[in-house]
Amino acid sequence: MIVQQKITALREELNLHTYNYYVLDNATISDYEFDIKLKELEKLETENPQFFDANSPTQRVGGEITKNFETVVHKNRMYSLDNSYSKEDLNDWEKRIQKLLGTDDISYTCELKYDGASINLTYKNGEFVKAVTRGDGFQGDDVTTNIKTIRSLPLKITSNFVRDFEMRGEIILPLNGFYKMNEERIENGEETYKNPRNTASGSLKLQDSTEVAKRPLDCLLYQVVTDERKYQTHFESLDIARKVGFKVPKTIVLAASIDEVFDFVSSWDSKRHDLPYETDGVVIKVNSLAQQDELGYTSKSPRWAIAYKFKAAQVSTILHKITYQVGRTVAITPVANLEPVQLAGTTVKRASLHNADQIEKLDIRINDTVFVEKGGEIIPKIIAVDVSKRSVNSEPTIYATHCPECATELVRTQGDAKHYCPNEFGCAPQITGKIQHFISRKAMDIDGLGGETVELLRKEGLIQNYADLYDLRVEQVIPLERMAEKSAENMIAGIQKSKEIPFEKVLFALGIRFVGETVAKKLAKHFKSIDNLLTADFDTLISVDEICDRIAQSVIDFSNDLVNMQLIDRLKLHGVQLEVSAASLKNQTDKLKGKVLVVSGVFHQMNRSELKKAIEDNGGKVSSSISKKTSYIVAGEKMGPSKKVKAETLGVEMITEQDFIEMIKK
Ligand code: AMP
Ligand code: ZN
Repeated sequence: MIVQQKITALREELNLHTYNYYVLDNATISDYEFDIKLKELEKLETENPQFFDANSPTQRVGGEITKNFETVVHKNRMYSLDNSYSKEDLNDWEKRIQKLLGTDDISYTCELKYDGASINLTYKNGEFVKAVTRGDGFQGDDVTTNIKTIRSLPLKITSNFVRDFEMRGEIILPLNGFYKMNEERIENGEETYKNPRNTASGSLKLQDSTEVAKRPLDCLLYQVVTDERKYQTHFESLDIARKVGFKVPKTIVLAASIDEVFDFVSSWDSKRHDLPYETDGVVIKVNSLAQQDELGYTSKSPRWAIAYKFKAAQVSTILHKITYQVGRTVAITPVANLEPVQLAGTTVKRASLHNADQIEKLDIRINDTVFVEKGGEIIPKIIAVDVSKRSVNSEPTIYATHCPECATELVRTQGDAKHYCPNEFGCAPQITGKIQHFISRKAMDIDGLGGETVELLRKEGLIQNYADLYDLRVEQVIPLERMAEKSAENMIAGIQKSKEIPFEKVLFALGIRFVGETVAKKLAKHFKSIDNLLTADFDTLISVDEICDRIAQSVIDFSNDLVNMQLIDRLKLHGVQLEVSAASLKNQTDKLKGKVLVVSGVFHQMNRSELKKAIEDNGGKVSSSISKKTSYIVAGEKMGPSKKVKAETLGVEMITEQDFIEMIKK
């Protein structure tokens, strides 16, 4: 087979597997085999750059950085939808359109209203070319590189469909993916995302598309916009769109009357809580495209469509007490303990109260009857108090003044909504939480030791901090509940083995606030040892790429604490890796020391991330935007024209991929 055919065949095969998996939810190949084929394609493409295709499956992994999202005017305006809240509203709408059309022969489609961020996708000649956010409806932001990473979105339409069209849809974050992202945030000691919708729309504007590629985003389509009139009805157009590869949910139905529309609405009002993603209503559209044209638009929305908004599920119940939770990160969270009540298909016993201000604002008191709502947020919240049911001798809530776990007086720094327990090293849940984080998979990855055992060891007085782990002996552990000799030995062996874990992970394990996995990697790479890091001053810290004031300050606070310094010394004595190992330094040089390089365009001998790694390994710094400080631009094929102009005006030297390779070889 000639190379080009082989490349095409591989692309088609990979696209088909992706479609089967991400659209039809039916895997037809193992992840492993998929990766092998993808690697094979990548290799062929690198060796044969003349067959480069921006819509190849290899282009989905991200890698491009967008500093400023370009504003693009929509070819066809993106309208809002009118809202309705009751069957009467729907009946009124029907009467209006019957009058305008002069007929009562109208059928409808009913779709769920997917709760995410709207997107307009442009396809030309069956190829995906552009994705733009709704913006103000007239113009939005070009987020093409980010959208391309969404696997369920076809980049090429091979079957016979209209050639040039726009596809309208919603970028959503399915609940499972959302929960998973939050679990990771918790593990990293970062604040959790509030709801899937904001997280989805925030993802579209991330500068690093590699980061977007990691998020489990999905794209649900709901409208084909085209000048070619191949279909008579909306339903038909979506049905065909689904067949040619778009993810059009199967929940769509045709309805012959508003009564049937309402049946759909009622059934989904309760069923919606079982969906894998969130929906806040139904969108009803006139099915005939000719009738849609006749009805046209008002100044803000189509006359041929209307949204029906579900009421946020709400119940009233009694607030028994307010408890205060302490976690690994020192912030205290007030929690409402409620009389258990059914809400949107689950039993609710607790609701979040956010912070002291909110309790005060809503004047929430013990024994109050409160309204609990499950809206976009995952944890239900109290939205109001039924004051008519309040007893006369009720008293305003006094917010906790002391830590419920260690009785230390709480502090609240100015500008911060939350209270903190400052007793970092003496407050049980904080101690346990820190050690649990230390041993976790992405940190020291200690085999044979789990979260519950950590709690047990702490309670038994065997450990107070992570350094204590390395002093544990088998004989001390065996007498513990549910601990056999073998498991005790495994645990100690696991702890000893963690001394081999590389420095960047150790740094993450230390649990310095705001130093998550990625930041730890950056810091480890830059400073190379804990001593360099902890003696760096503020200015040195913030001069490191992507290290902001907040992180720098947190590192300084950490190093100013004597207890932390003692713990680090003890880890050092135990032989934990507190500097970058010689082996990992081996391939590194400082040929590019002091140089700032910008990478732009498409490369053939290495991919972008390899190129960036090569820059960093040789002591250079990668920057995403061109400035006077830029030393070189490594210019690949298809380098952005605006970058070129900027480089020329600033007189920054442009070098080719080959020049670069020679530069580091020298
Ligand atoms: P609104 O933002 O409340 O005016 O509602 C309009 C938005 O609903 C559109 O911009 C779409 O992003 C979104 N939407 C979600 N699902 C659908 C659907 N099935 N049909 C049309 N619009 C939808
Ligand atoms: Zn405490």
